Order: sequence, then C-alpha cells, then structure tokens
Amino acid sequence: MNSLNLQARAAGRFAPSPSGDLHIGNIRSGLLAYVRARQTGRRFLWRVEDLDRVSPGAAESQLAVFAELGVTPDEAPLIQSDRLDIYAEAITSLQHCGLVYECYCSRKDIQQAPSAPHAPPGAYPGTCRSLGEVERERQRDRLAADGRSPALRLRTENSPVTVHDELLGDITAPTDDLVLRRGDGVYAYNLIVVVDDAASGVDEVVRGDDLATSAPRQAHLASLLGLPATGWLHVPLVLNESGQRLAKRDGAVTYQQLQASGWTSADVFAWMGESLGFGPGWTSLDDMIAGIDFNRIRREPTVFTPPVEAPRVSGLD
Ligand code: GLU
Repeated sequence: MNSLNLQARAAGRFAPSPSGDLHIGNIRSGLLAYVRARQTGRRFLWRVEDLDRVSPGAAESQLAVFAELGVTPDEAPLIQSDRLDIYAEAITSLQHCGLVYECYCSRKDIQQAPSAPHAPPGAYPGTCRSLGEVERERQRDRLAADGRSPALRLRTENSPVTVHDELLGDITAPTDDLVLRRGDGVYAYNLIVVVDDAASGVDEVVRGDDLATSAPRQAHLASLLGLPATGWLHVPLVLNESGQRLAKRDGAVTYQQLQASGWTSADVFAWMGESLGFGPGWTSLDDMIAGIDFNRIRREPTVFTPPVEAPRVSGLD
C-alpha cells in the first residue's frame, strides 16, 4: 500500500453513514470524537461513508447539525465513493499475497453450512476457502446464470487478535474470513475503514462501542496491508427506553426533532454532560471540551428518554 499518501499528522475522525439524520446517540459519539481530537491536539476529520445506505442530502444535513453545535472538520470531508480505485488497489495488494479468495455462498448457504471446527460462532464456515479451479469455474457460471458475481473474502486462520482500548481495556476477537468486496461489487466496511483511516493519518479511532469487536479484525487487516496501527477508544452507546440501541424510529431523537420540541444547542450540551456523568452544567461545546475527562466518563450505556416538553437549562431563565 505504498502508493497511499499517508498523512504524517495525527488525526481523529467521525465517519457517519449518510443514511439519514443523526440521532442523539450518534451525535454524542461524534462530539466525543471531536473533543478527544481537540484535547489531544489531533486534526478532526469527517468521512462520508456513502458506499452503502445513502439518503440524498443526509451528509450535508449531518455536517450542518455539527456546524450548529460548533464543530467543523479541519479538512474537507473524505467521500468514500470518490476512492473506489484506492480500495481496488488494497484488494490487489492482498491478492498478491495470496490472501483473497472468491466466495460463492449466499447468506442462506452460510447459515445452513456446518460451522468449521474451532471457528468462532457466526464465523464464515470456510466453504469456498479451498476450492479447486474447476469447481470455482463451475460456481462462477452458476452465479453468472443468476446475474450474480462472487464476493471476495480475506483468507485468515481464525486466530485471536487483541487490541487495547483506552476505555474498555484489551479487546480480543478472532480474525475471520471477512468480506472485502461484496457480491454486488460494493467494497466492504471493514476494508474501507482501515484503508481510509490510514490514508488520512487517523491514529486514534473514537466511536460507539457497538463496533468494539470489529477493532481486532480491522487491526489485523491493517497489519496485512502494511498500514500503521491505530489506537482505539470505544464510547458507551445511548439506548432507548427498552434498553435497545437508540434508533430513529424511537421518535424524538434527531437534532431536528429535538429542536422542534424546544431543545436548543445548550440543552444538547446539558444532556451530554449529564449522560456522560459530569452533571447538567454544560451549555456549549467549549464547556464540553473543558469538562470531559475521558478517564471519568460514565462507562454504562445511557438511556435516552425523548422529551415531552423542552427541558430547562439551568441558569437561563
Ligand atoms: N459508518 C459507520 C457507522 O455509521 C461507522 C464506522 C466507524 O466509525 O468505523 O456506524
């Protein structure tokens, strides 16, 4: 991957999928990534992960919400759909090392296959890992007859990899034969995250802890690509009142919806302070930057109760 233009200066980033408006949990993770970058002297970058679920105008609207909260990225956002050649090059470099194979399985094939001995639960059972060329031709023809193409997978040993997380400590997960390019030709999340973080000089990833178990396999992929290792800081999630990960269907959870129910940006920061365990005293981004001690943030997930009416920010009335 030497042709990648690796940036020397350290950076953090926020990489939302532009699939719609961000909810308060996404906003909290993004603000934490920003605050961490400011506190540690890193550049703060924004990446538009638009290879998969895209809703027109969502990327612009997400950036506008952050601008209203006082956050602007230090560089122009990186747009993944502009970088397809670079992802193709990453796969080629893995292919040169014999680390890529075609997979002809459907989701149903994978569910129905007996799992490989010693493979972690849910791991790809290895059906297509060691096929001969004649069988591969046969499978390619079978898919082509249905108008489909094979996916590309990474060849691994399913061995465990450990990374260190600033909040969670060591995270160990098996590397598995993850998909690098899907059958529909879309480059897979794990590949592009690793390639883009390295290309932008991201040396610490701050994001929601639903992605914590992806960190070891992403670190493994980075090392196979000869890319520098990053640090990790996974932050607790925001849940709905039933204890599930907050989602837009939970109602008044996006910034736009909260504004419509009377919230101001000061209310957002007051909620951030409270939910992270620092009390309701913050009213601005500067308060958040000054007030956060990452060693002391609340480790438990926070339940978000959509407002019935506008909350009061102390000292403003
Ligand atoms: N685009 C991913 C998401 O919106 C985040 C990817 C990452 O932070 O690594 O969930």
